[in-house]
Amino acid sequence: MADDRIRRLEARVAALEARNVELEVQNAALDAEKRHYRWLAESTTDLISRHARDGTFLYASRAARDLLGYAPEALIGVCAYELFHPADLADLLNKSPRVYHRDGFYQYTYRFRSRDGHYVWFETTSRTRRDPETGELLDILCVSRDVGRRLRAEANRERLARVVESTTDYVLFADDNEQLFYSNEAARRRLVLPTGDGGASLADAYTAASLGELRDIVLPAVARYGSWSGELAMRGRGGTLPVLSVVLAHRGPGAEPGHLSLLNRDIGLRKAAEAQARRHQAQIAHANRLATTGELASNIAHELNQPLGAIANYASGALMKLRSAPAAPANELAVPLERINDQVAGLAERLRHIRAYVRKGRTHCRPMAFAEVVTGALQLCEWQFRQAGVRLERALPADLPAVQADPIAVEQVLVNLLLNALEASREQPGADRVRVSAERVSPRELVFRVSDRGAGIPATMRAELFAPFNTTKPEGLGMGLAIAHSLMEAMGGRLCLEETTAGASFAGTLRLAD
Ligand code: ADP
Repeated sequence: MADDRIRRLEARVAALEARNVELEVQNAALDAEKRHYRWLAESTTDLISRHARDGTFLYASRAARDLLGYAPEALIGVCAYELFHPADLADLLNKSPRVYHRDGFYQYTYRFRSRDGHYVWFETTSRTRRDPETGELLDILCVSRDVGRRLRAEANRERLARVVESTTDYVLFADDNEQLFYSNEAARRRLVLPTGDGGASLADAYTAASLGELRDIVLPAVARYGSWSGELAMRGRGGTLPVLSVVLAHRGPGAEPGHLSLLNRDIGLRKAAEAQARRHQAQIAHANRLATTGELASNIAHELNQPLGAIANYASGALMKLRSAPAAPANELAVPLERINDQVAGLAERLRHIRAYVRKGRTHCRPMAFAEVVTGALQLCEWQFRQAGVRLERALPADLPAVQADPIAVEQVLVNLLLNALEASREQPGADRVRVSAERVSPRELVFRVSDRGAGIPATMRAELFAPFNTTKPEGLGMGLAIAHSLMEAMGGRLCLEETTAGASFAGTLRLAD
């Protein structure tokens, strides 16, 4: 009997010991788990915190230091709500019953004040813990993540999406089957894209020729280099639209291979504006030429007078001869008649030249002898210079190479510069000469100069010297230099004002003929 009791007691002791060992093992496992969780909480970059029902911090993980600048222990006892951005706190308190009165998760995004006063965007997931028996709220566990970067990136993405949607360029996104999965507002409005179930494809957006170019050249280039840009044509509602396109492949995380972005800038309007500007420019240049021609009319009349007088002289001489000796051989009249012929030919040439000068049109560059154009320009202005008593000096080397330019345009530039120089000389006592010179300055260029000894260009004029309507003359239009400048540029040359000690010197650069 006693043995029996002893055995039972021993068995109980053994069972208790076994249970003890089991509990110890369990305890050790719990300890390990606790350490594990603590380690997790301490090493995560998110802030893990535990709060009392009124929001007071009971625990904060180490991330508090990185995210908010607080030592974790400094937060214990602080009420989290005091650090909320006031607007966000009001918002939260409106919704807070959900947090307190129901178990479960709650997620919210708000601004939290860091130690140095600036706000950090937090996204916090919280869970309330309650006493299972009384239902009383024990504490709130929170995991907070800094989502500032993400929010800023999202805001940026949204902004970009709005820019893409509202830009006047036609923006298309296409997949690797040439199907469009996005077209922005401008594209939807201006292109003929089908809206049906099948959706639109690149073939709907581009002309047949451009589609061919896209397939043969652009897509292989994009696959290889990541991008391509060039001119293409799109199928617009009102007809073909010339566009400057940039085609981009998207690589990097999240990008679907083979997806493309196609940005197309309509250059139809620009082309039309350029053509309009060119027409306008040609009209102004023409008007300027007519104005200078009017100014030069007296010169022309004078020019014509002299050969006409000579012709009249020869003709009346020949007539007198014919009357006094009607039987004389006709070949005796050959000399005066030849002279008349020469004069008429010369006159016809001058008239042709003047007609060409007033001709309306754009610049047509061709190889031309610069010296010949200088002769023409000097002839046009000669009379005015003589009248004003200003000498015209011509300093051109005999071996000047040919230039690639439009003779009429160069002549107009020279006439404008010469008349300006004359004007400046008239107003300046002692300014008695204007010089035209030229030299080859490199294997590719020739520079000519028109220099005077006038008062020079006022400092206030210099910055805008070549801008239109810039004039100091009461009757001036201020177009001469602007036109001369753009004519030189149209010919691939330049015109600029040079620094001089006295007067003004304009230098024009022209390309040499090949
Ligand atoms: P406009 O002769 O009708 O005034 P321009 O464009 O030919 O128009 O010249 C603009 C202005 O530049 C002139 O009003 C004048 O003040 C200045 N200018 C041009 N050439 C000279 C020059 N050689 N010397 C001094 N001033 C000049």
